[in-house]
Amino acid sequence: MAEQDVAVAEAEEVEQEFDAPERGSADELLDAGAHSELDAMRHSAAHVMAEAVLDLFPGTKLGIGPAIEDGFYYDFDLPRPLTPEDLAAIEQRMTESVKADHPFVRRELPPEEGRAFFAERNQPYKVEILDDLAAKAERDGTPMPPTSVYEHGSFVDLCKGPHVASTGKIGPFKLLAVSGAYWRGDQSRPSLQRIYGTVWQTQEELDRYLWRREEAKKRDHRKLGVQLDLFSFHDVSPGAAFWHPKGWTLYQTLRNAMRDLQARRGYQEVYTPPLVSKTLWERSGHWEHYRENMFLFEAEEQTFSLKPMNCPESTYIYRSRVRSYRELPLRLAEYGVLHRNELSGVLSGLTRVRHFVTDDAHIYVRPDQIGAEIQGLMGEIREAYSWFGLEPRLTFGTRPDKALGDPAVWAETEAQMRAELERSGMQYREKPKDGAFYAPKIDIQIEDALGREWQTATIQVDRVMLPERFDLWYVDEHGQQQRPVAIHRAIYGSLERFIGVLTEHFAGAFPLWCSPVQAVVIPIADRHVAAAEELAGVLRTRGLRVEVDGSDNRMQNKIRLAQEQKVPVMLVLGDREIEARAATVRRRGAAKDAAQETLGWDELADRLATESADRRVE
Ligand SMILES: [Zn+2]
Ligand SMILES: [Zn+2]
Repeated sequence: MAEQDVAVAEAEEVEQEFDAPERGSADELLDAGAHSELDAMRHSAAHVMAEAVLDLFPGTKLGIGPAIEDGFYYDFDLPRPLTPEDLAAIEQRMTESVKADHPFVRRELPPEEGRAFFAERNQPYKVEILDDLAAKAERDGTPMPPTSVYEHGSFVDLCKGPHVASTGKIGPFKLLAVSGAYWRGDQSRPSLQRIYGTVWQTQEELDRYLWRREEAKKRDHRKLGVQLDLFSFHDVSPGAAFWHPKGWTLYQTLRNAMRDLQARRGYQEVYTPPLVSKTLWERSGHWEHYRENMFLFEAEEQTFSLKPMNCPESTYIYRSRVRSYRELPLRLAEYGVLHRNELSGVLSGLTRVRHFVTDDAHIYVRPDQIGAEIQGLMGEIREAYSWFGLEPRLTFGTRPDKALGDPAVWAETEAQMRAELERSGMQYREKPKDGAFYAPKIDIQIEDALGREWQTATIQVDRVMLPERFDLWYVDEHGQQQRPVAIHRAIYGSLERFIGVLTEHFAGAFPLWCSPVQAVVIPIADRHVAAAEELAGVLRTRGLRVEVDGSDNRMQNKIRLAQEQKVPVMLVLGDREIEARAATVRRRGAAKDAAQETLGWDELADRLATESADRRVE
């Protein structure tokens, strides 16, 4: 790749990473994104970068430069495309400005003077923002506010702040990449060059961030998916994975583990149609709250949608006959096929998809069973996350401002959930107003090997959407009709997303129990192939997933290939091993000179089968 292409490819990744919001209105354009001290420093670095670019490329027209997660960007209208050398030169100039420790000074100019100031300096994008503000003020019948600018050294920018006190307060920084960005995110407007940078309080934090970024690139599940032959994506179905045999094995292994857990907990599995009439969504409230995220179809003058969630359909099974209090809890699990109409521009590998399946369940309980059920669900979470060596973190989201149902019922449910959270002994953080529009919820996040947080599981205690809107009831011990409570729960969440997260967390080296190929048998020479097949057969009868490398590669090559495919166990067979009906065991990632064990076939099969069945994490 040419340097230029490298910079562009890198920029695409940076964009994914930052997920930078496009900015529309003048007010949004003026939001520096500086909501904390660190953000103020990041936004200040953007000003210093703009100063450097203006120094190096006189006549540059400035777009906007907000702080974003982990860093900042600034959009520039430049006479030519920037190269990686330019970034180095810009960084150099920024370093000088930081050393000079210029104070950031805020000034307010009368509106007319402010506009003239930026017009004189040939900054049409700034003038456009001011004109928009003036037009809005006129529409609202309010006076045009003064033009607020921030100045440091010779550089002045249209800005509402806040900023750090002086350029010397800007911590260690690095410019990362350049990408294209349309002015105001509008394809009919000029295409600007966006420079991304990152800045941290200490060198140590910067180094760690840069390491994490490099490591994240290596672990990118989209790359590993191809390398390990797990899945691929194709333009014919944006946002939907094509699962290859190995990826599908992983997928089913995870699903089967959850099915096993669910069977032990007394769940029953159901399946409901993906294509359903809009009348269902009108009743559930999703037509009002969620319609733009659904794929819609017309058939025989009726509107149908591909379901974006399983919830309302499970009520039809509940209501298919009269339910007695003795039947509750009724735990209905469903691996339904879901579609959400995400814009193709925001789709990203397995983590932002249009088509996915969750390990969903709807649990119908009596009000007096909520507590015990939540404890049961906490146990499910602890168990499932232990299969991956992951530590779940809990947040508790309470009633949002726009919510269905009686606030008093919400308060009662929240108090009950809080008490159960306390009782579970698991740490949690309360997030006020973060509940679903129909239920307070416990969300589970995990932190991956790179310290990134992912949202996965959820438990929602719903007394409104399913029970009220679908008029559910059961007959209590006195023969009276009562409302059940519906608990929505998912432990992995979306299987697609969960596999994307796991792939990056383990860098493709999955624990033995869920590895698509658990062991490769490596015959040293051709004459050992028959015995290798026999050993593979022995292991397969124990339920293990085993391949034989019968190629004419040399043994070292076969080992290297298996290592590259991240197979957990390599079993080497030569004359000595075959004579003893044994195999030499080599573990993935073991040091070259690590002692190798030779085990008899039966003992080997016992050990691997136990390790797999116990879902042990190395
Ligand atoms: Zn500013
Ligand atoms: Zn649900």
